Amino acid sequence: MLPLPDLFATLLHAYGPQHWWPGETRLEIIVGAVLIQNTNWRNASRAIDNLALAGLLEWPALLASDDNTLRACIWPSGFYNVKLRRLRSLLNYLAPWGLEHPRWLALPLQTLRAELLAVQGVGPETADSILLYAFERPTFVVDAYTRRLLARLGADWAQRASYQALQAHWMAALPSDTALYNEAHALIVQHAKTHCRAKPRCADCPLLTHCPFGSGC
Ligand code: SF4
Repeated sequence: MLPLPDLFATLLHAYGPQHWWPGETRLEIIVGAVLIQNTNWRNASRAIDNLALAGLLEWPALLASDDNTLRACIWPSGFYNVKLRRLRSLLNYLAPWGLEHPRWLALPLQTLRAELLAVQGVGPETADSILLYAFERPTFVVDAYTRRLLARLGADWAQRASYQALQAHWMAALPSDTALYNEAHALIVQHAKTHCRAKPRCADCPLLTHCPFGSGC
């Protein structure tokens, strides 16, 4: 299989820098990491727009918001009752320190990750998204696109691998670098939307010459 650094370089050359996460502030990124669960970015983005219009992308306002208002804002992201509870749990965890406290940058990465994973509704992908994009900590985000891309490129094991194993695979192949992990995940998402969809568009894919799956399309 194409070595991961070469895969990264090819995607970067094809799509250019992605300037992720698509959110202006730390709070918006954290909220977005919950709202994107089990939906697409368009739906999550509509919910974020509603929050912005309601003035709830401000830390004190969001903490003080009532459930009905919050639910009405986030409904376009789907599973809104579940996401409301998850958002509240996450806010309750963050609230004692606020978002600008030095602990988010000072605590060992794995300590912080363990804390986030202990919050109700925060799984590995959400935790790593928050760590990487909101707190700029060097951890790799794995998603379904990452898994599918590796499998199509010849790493059959990726379909059955654990999140942990896939993450370790990427982090062993790329230097521990926040900007690099940020860009790599964003490029994989871009590639999955542009070419490597559920029904892939292989003909003009920048990875075609390295892809056993695409060669057989
Ligand atoms: S050639 Fe097709 S299957 Fe392979 S990476 Fe490109 S889009 Fe995906």
